[in-house]
Amino acid sequence: MTESNSFSRSSDIIFRFGLDPTLNRILVLTALSESDHPLRAKDVYEDLRQRHKLNRVTVYRILDLFAEKGVVSKISSGERSFCYCACFGRWLQGHCHFHCTRCGKVECIDKDLLPLDEEALKNRLSMDVQHIELRLDGVCTSCKAKGTTRAGARKPS
Ligand SMILES: [Zn+2]
Ligand SMILES: [Zn+2]
Repeated sequence: MTESNSFSRSSDIIFRFGLDPTLNRILVLTALSESDHPLRAKDVYEDLRQRHKLNRVTVYRILDLFAEKGVVSKISSGERSFCYCACFGRWLQGHCHFHCTRCGKVECIDKDLLPLDEEALKNRLSMDVQHIELRLDGVCTSCKAKGTTRAGARKPS
């Protein structure tokens, strides 16, 4: 996809969620949607600042606004650490994520692998469900390939 295509797509999505498609917002959403896995706010910022004049606070604020409005999913990846996933173009909302407890990487998991009947769930619970987050924790493929080396691994809590 060419840059201008991703730009106009990001702009459309932002607009559809009732937000103003400002240049900074478009840049942030484009960076997220071009990644094949969810990104930390820090990663988005590091990626963008190489090419654009954006400060860290702006990037963090935009990501939180997107998460609040449902443009992207905010996924917890360990204590006090979060990743952001641009749900569009991949699988729509409702897919879950895998978090590697060794390297900390977060990956998207195809919705079909963990089907969740959101309607049935909402109908059977008396609570008002507004958001569902499913996270699988474990060891990712590349850490598994590295075998039993546990350097840098967190102590199991
Ligand atoms: Zn890993
Ligand atoms: Zn995802």
